[in-house]
Amino acid sequence: MNAHSIAEAAYIVAALLFILALAGLSKHETAKQGIVYGIAGMVIALAATIGVATEHAATIAIVLLVVAVVIGAAIGLWRARIVAMTGMPELIALLHSFVGLAAVLVGWSGYYSVEHDSGQTEFAGSLLRIHHAEVFIGIFIGAVTFTGSIVANLKLSARIKSSPLMLPGKNYLNIGALVAFVVLTVLFVRSPNLPLLIAVTVVALALGWHLVASIGGGDMPVVVSMLNSYSGWAAAASGFLLNNNLLIVTGALVGSSGAYLSYIMCTAMNRSFISVIAGGFGIEAGPADDTDYGEHREITAEDTAELLKDASTVIITPGYGMAVAQAQYPVADLTRKLRERGVDVRFGIHPVAGRLPGHMNVLLAEAKVPYDIVLEMDEINDDFGDTSVVLVIGANDTVNPAAADDPSSPIAGMPVLHVWEASNVVVFKRSMAAGYAGVQNPLFFRDNSQMLFGDAKARVEDIIRAL
Ligand code: NDP
Repeated sequence: MNAHSIAEAAYIVAALLFILALAGLSKHETAKQGIVYGIAGMVIALAATIGVATEHAATIAIVLLVVAVVIGAAIGLWRARIVAMTGMPELIALLHSFVGLAAVLVGWSGYYSVEHDSGQTEFAGSLLRIHHAEVFIGIFIGAVTFTGSIVANLKLSARIKSSPLMLPGKNYLNIGALVAFVVLTVLFVRSPNLPLLIAVTVVALALGWHLVASIGGGDMPVVVSMLNSYSGWAAAASGFLLNNNLLIVTGALVGSSGAYLSYIMCTAMNRSFISVIAGGFGIEAGPADDTDYGEHREITAEDTAELLKDASTVIITPGYGMAVAQAQYPVADLTRKLRERGVDVRFGIHPVAGRLPGHMNVLLAEAKVPYDIVLEMDEINDDFGDTSVVLVIGANDTVNPAAADDPSSPIAGMPVLHVWEASNVVVFKRSMAAGYAGVQNPLFFRDNSQMLFGDAKARVEDIIRAL
């Protein structure tokens, strides 16, 4: 058996391990095991690839490969160790951009090793034309993923505004870019040349930037999983070019699971899947919000403790602010204390609370809040009417009644937690600032709402002391 056949066998084992990893990650209890499968698959894949390379490549190329892997692994380990949970989405977006960039570079190198010097090629006839198309499509998907992910990273890290960019005729710009891609592909397959390659790279870079810039903050969760999907297809396109079956299988796995996750999130947020993947297609800017919502009321931690002492049922709805403040431990402590006093305490979790799918569930599990009192939005939304006190801890967009009441709101139609139906609502936040989607929240001005200003962790600890 030569090194190539051994590598192909190793690739099949690695592909199976990746499928087991995905299956494991779909359940809380088996998630850790899923990660172990994924690591094992990646180690086998890397070893097999380096093994094949040693057969054909010059020593200097192998040394460069090993040096690149060591430097990349060291940076990856360092970033993964220092990243805060709240910084995960922007790190993931950055990693997607690398997959996109790699696909662009593989496409360009494919062009230089085949099309550029057609005398040297082992391809002929229709196979050669398929190669032309692979180069072009790989560069297109890669470049869209690259700039799209960079904009997502900038938006998620708040280095640019999360509100949607509304260029005039934005839908036509997107459609125009797609038409240009199709025309350029046909021209390139007929007669490949450098200007066409440069043109498709520029069009795709601009399209990726515009697609994600046009999507509003509230839809960012879908964008992250959509770019995850794009990065998978970009990897699969590179797999075709490099004739690497494992890259094709892995890319297709990431591409299809990312697309399915985007679909699930769109359903949860009542958004049109097509509209979001087409860069907010059909969504127009709403009127500027200059509504006068009236005055808000404030409450102290001591008065909140009094409210809680008299309560029979309490629902806690955590959001991104709980993650920022790392308030999950005192929140778990408060929950224990209230339950000891006979208060019925439950948690209501919105599907996009925080900045990652399952963000709140992970934090609450970390603080050892029992699973059975942590309920999904659909399981708890009818119970707010019978609840004495709701504690909104660092949540904003996910409890915004405008989504249900105001059809002109940018988050209109997104299902939200109906906290305002409770007898009393206490909102923990530091200021009157808007949430991630940049939309004012009329909840803060309702008669049954009171604001408890300050860092969520410090305020919850004050309440525990007062109790
Ligand atoms: P939001 O992001 O809407 O609001 C969080 C609130 O927390 C802010 O209003 C902020 O107000 C407050 N806050 C921040 N830090 C603290 C602190 N230390 N102490 C107390 N309060 C604090 O949160 P939600 O969880 O309700 O909504 C999530 C949003 O993020 C949605 O728009 C969602 O679409 C989006 N998103 C979700 C992703 C996901 O996968 N879950 C991914 C990407 C985006 P203040 O500054 O006044 O303190």
